[in-house]
Amino acid sequence: MPGEPQADCLFCKIVAKEIPATVVRESETTLAFRDINPQAPTHVLVIPKAHHPDAASLAAADPQAAADVLREAGEVAFAEGVAESGHRIVFNTGSGAGQTVFHAHAHVLGGRGLTWPPG
Ligand code: C5P
Repeated sequence: MPGEPQADCLFCKIVAKEIPATVVRESETTLAFRDINPQAPTHVLVIPKAHHPDAASLAAADPQAAADVLREAGEVAFAEGVAESGHRIVFNTGSGAGQTVFHAHAHVLGGRGLTWPPG
């Protein structure tokens, strides 16, 4: 069932507090925590609490939850002081694009210059 917790999903385990994470924000539908392997001074992941494998499936199954993730990503950027200076919100989608955890997540990156195009 879309949205149901998956026993083998790392981020479902973080939502269930079975695996620790440094949480910076929480809403009814989302959780934001610091990436364990930061790629920039600010690197926070924003996830829906419900399990959806990637951003496109999330948006198709639950557009409101997808909007909640984007809103929270913006709030994280503001709270981290990178809203004005520049930040990037990234959804790696598919292993070919570097997705390694198949529970939808937005990377919020900032605090350094970010080049374009990304690698
Ligand atoms: O986009 P991708 O699927 O590669 O992103 C997964 C992210 O989850 C990685 O940046 C990785 O460092 C992070 N991660 C984490 N905490 C874990 C396991 C992975 O922050 N316990």
